[in-house]
Amino acid sequence: MEFSFSPEEQKLLEEVRAFIKAETTDALLAESEELGHIYGGKEGRKFIKKFASHGWLTPNWPAEYGGLGTSATVAFAIREEMARAAVPLIFVAAHMAGPTIMHFGSQEMKDKWLLPIARGEVEFCLGYTEPQAGSDLAALRIRAVDKGDYFLLNGQKMFNTHAHVADYHWLGTITDPDAKKYRGMSLMIVDLKSPGIDIRPMVTMAGWQTNEVFYEDVKVPKENLVGELNAGFFYVMHALDYERMFPLAIYARLVDEVIEYARNTTVDGEPLARNPVVRQKLAQLKIEIAANRHLYYRLAHMLDHGQVPNYQASMQKLFATETVQHITNTAMEVLGMFGLLKKGSKWAVLAGNTERYYRTSVVETIYAGTSEIQRNIIALRGLELPRK
Ligand SMILES: Cc1cc2nc3c(=O)[nH]c(=O)nc-3n(C[C@H](O)[C@H](O)[C@H](O)COP(=O)(O)OP(=O)(O)OC[C@H]3O[C@@H](n4cnc5c(N)ncnc54)[C@H](O)[C@@H]3O)c2cc1C
Repeated sequence: MEFSFSPEEQKLLEEVRAFIKAETTDALLAESEELGHIYGGKEGRKFIKKFASHGWLTPNWPAEYGGLGTSATVAFAIREEMARAAVPLIFVAAHMAGPTIMHFGSQEMKDKWLLPIARGEVEFCLGYTEPQAGSDLAALRIRAVDKGDYFLLNGQKMFNTHAHVADYHWLGTITDPDAKKYRGMSLMIVDLKSPGIDIRPMVTMAGWQTNEVFYEDVKVPKENLVGELNAGFFYVMHALDYERMFPLAIYARLVDEVIEYARNTTVDGEPLARNPVVRQKLAQLKIEIAANRHLYYRLAHMLDHGQVPNYQASMQKLFATETVQHITNTAMEVLGMFGLLKKGSKWAVLAGNTERYYRTSVVETIYAGTSEIQRNIIALRGLELPRK
């Protein structure tokens, strides 16, 4: 199977590519790198608002909500273009919260949020994890108490990645502490400028920032509740399915660069490209990248046929993020000691990207659910094995 696009779709993708080429500045790339390619920085907002004015941020959304009504396959291809260009490519509002609001939000909520999201005017951060609740999300403790016109929120989140650059928190919170597990959680949109919110940085080994967020008597308007009260766990699972759709192109570009490096570099009198171990390893990466492409576009195909990928999204997230680690490990092996050098070192090769991507690849198999959790989902929902 090969993926192909109609002449109109190809034209659209060429326009996207040309726009990205023309509008990408050094300042945008530097900010995008510093933020780990999440959306919300000053340069990113400038770029994405312009990009989104063409309908390209949410191309498969209907026109009334700021999209172009394209297929999800085209939307996934646009995301690949963005990933390849290393511009901001992780959007909580456009890619995770927006589709969930589209499915479960009230008409008022859709009218309020979807257009600003499609225009890139607002960004959310994911507020799921707490110190005692990561893989086991049902163990949340943060509490929202019904006070009539509003909820009063108290508690703590951690590893909330966009929080320092986003506008709103997409927050899972307990609203019925007496309910059975999974049944007492609600999902809310919280304005990060509300009084009582304290955001504290946690810097990852990748170099970019995630955050702890503390809530003390924070008022959340009732209209910011997503869907039904106490049904939040279900909505969060749905949003997680959308999060587990991972374009690999930024790392595929690194593979192309390493192949070029092997072609042009001689070690101990022998071109690296003739070294049998290097050839075997690079060929293996090409197989994995191609296999990931099929898993990735299968998700788009499902969306285009009215299905929301579930364990299939876990398969792609797991395969993509483990492939990413094979890529960075192999890049390190091929480059040898040069691979360890940071950007800025006069001996660095491939602009020092290998050491940075190596550090980043470690965290890829943790967020949006660890590899063990993805395998559990595949065993339970894909293979229909019994719960433990
Ligand atoms: C860089 C980064 C960014 C993140 N960004 C966000 C964000 O924006 N918003 C947000 O809400 N969260 C975010 N997270 C949190 C992330 O989703 C959690 O770290 C992840 O779900 C794991 O939870 P935990 O860290 O509590 O580990 P734990 O759940 O304590 O897991 C520890 C280990 O036990 C294993 N394990 C746990 N349960 C099982 C099981 N049932 N079966 C088999 N193995 C199991 C895990 O796989 C892991 O290896 C981020 C994390 C990182 C590292």
